[in-house]
Amino acid sequence: MTTTKDLTQSGPTIFFIFGGTGDLTSRKLIPALYNLFLEGWMPENFQIVAMGRTQFTDEKFRGELLTDVNKFSRSGEAKQWDSFSQHIHFHVSDVQDPKTYKEMYERVQSFAQVAGTEPNVIFYLAVAPRFFATIAENLAAYKLTANPTKSRIVFEKPFGHDLESAKELNKLLSGIFTEKQIYRIDHYLGKETVQNILAFRFANSILEPIWNRNYIEHVQISVTEQLGVGDRGGYYDDSGALRDMVQNHILQLLCLVAMEAPVNFGADDVRNRKVDVLNSMRKFSPEDVQKNAVRGQYSKGWMQGQEVPGYREEKGVKKESNTETFAAIKFFIDNWRWHGVPFYLRTGKRMHQSSSVITIQFKDVPHQIFPTGSSEGWQQNKLIISIQPEMSIRLKMQAKRPGLDMILNPVDMIFDYKGTYTTETPEAYETLLLDTMLGDQTHFMRGDQVEAAWELLMPIINAWATKKSTSFPNYSADSWGPESADALLARDGFHWFTLPQTSKPKH
Ligand code: NAP
Repeated sequence: MTTTKDLTQSGPTIFFIFGGTGDLTSRKLIPALYNLFLEGWMPENFQIVAMGRTQFTDEKFRGELLTDVNKFSRSGEAKQWDSFSQHIHFHVSDVQDPKTYKEMYERVQSFAQVAGTEPNVIFYLAVAPRFFATIAENLAAYKLTANPTKSRIVFEKPFGHDLESAKELNKLLSGIFTEKQIYRIDHYLGKETVQNILAFRFANSILEPIWNRNYIEHVQISVTEQLGVGDRGGYYDDSGALRDMVQNHILQLLCLVAMEAPVNFGADDVRNRKVDVLNSMRKFSPEDVQKNAVRGQYSKGWMQGQEVPGYREEKGVKKESNTETFAAIKFFIDNWRWHGVPFYLRTGKRMHQSSSVITIQFKDVPHQIFPTGSSEGWQQNKLIISIQPEMSIRLKMQAKRPGLDMILNPVDMIFDYKGTYTTETPEAYETLLLDTMLGDQTHFMRGDQVEAAWELLMPIINAWATKKSTSFPNYSADSWGPESADALLARDGFHWFTLPQTSKPKH
């Protein structure tokens, strides 16, 4: 197999998963590790140790996981389950009990003895953020992270609840680990289509000359979901759309679209250029929040023939909740490349479509030569990067419709993953877990990046917390959000672009 990944880095590896009985582990982490195993990416010698208070034996736990893998793995019904599952163990433990870490240390020692070398040790924190500090401190106290070249610690989102808490956590971690040991997950960065934005921009010379304020009129990034909060109401009510989606996934997408070319594909170079974007974004004053940020909350309604509750009727949500389930924001990036180009971001739950789409709208032709009536369907050129459910990049252009008349129609030039490649696309977590094992941080968030993203959003978060919305709920399920979100673009002469839904949405 030809690979750019340095597999020599993945020597014997022991993988601890805090939260081993949780939803993330069963739906994402184990299926991802299993697929890596099937495709020959796992180290020859590895052990997965799932942790939790539930009283599982190894056998019982493996049995539960098999059901999950059959259900959630992209490779379908488990094939080499027996040989894979022999590597999995369950460690009954409480993260708050120091005994846990002593036992982990002993496990690492006996694994090292059998392997005959010091293993890579990965700690994956798939638990509530309130445990992050306790776990980090105990790992350090029990010398589990003493070798910075061999131990890595992975944090799930959310990383911090606001700027202050993110800074506090970063400060604590930097006193214990080197930045090279810390892997802050934003699973969007593991998605194939998201990684392709870098390839598309920096492996093609035709784009760079037009990728700027001279040719681009505006950019839209829209990440919408048909799902409501479901069982996550308790968590979501303290979070909201800004914290849950904008601070991480959507700002990361924006960085990939707006960043300068890195010197090379190394983690620090790529991440430096992303931080530059965040630092160049115009900070909001209280007046800007009023003018350029829109919030929404869904009311009850119908989705695909089923009646669905409003946000305030969801389990775990306060009856008078002020939490936004929708946000739309207009940002500017104050640098030479993007001066004056609006970036519109939108995200929401219970929306008409589940899709993640970036639309880059180019400026109109300087002079119209075609007769009136020939161009009724006229559309400015758009480059549309669809991340999910459709995985494609399309360029919308004008073309002459066949016939004796000169009638112009918008047409698409399409790069479609499914039509071009027959190989299956790996799940984001496969990419990210492999990168963690190989010690590649390119697709992870660095500490300063996380803080810069929080800093940018704090004026909006604070303004919305201080001044409660009097109009919530203000959009119905199965809509495109509140009318004020349409007005945000309409004021500038634009409208939100949506791709026709061609395939079943993936949540
Ligand atoms: P979950 O299903 O509620 O699982 C929580 C896990 O924490 C369980 O395995 C539980 O194990 C363990 N736990 C709780 N208290 C513990 C204690 N005192 N000692 C040891 N283990 C303890 O949560 P989740 O949905 O998997 O999410 C985990 C983390 O990932 C959260 O930070 C979440 O924000 C993040 N995340 C999740 C998803 C997702 O799709 N689920 C996506 C993105 C980010 P026991 O009950 O057996 O002790």
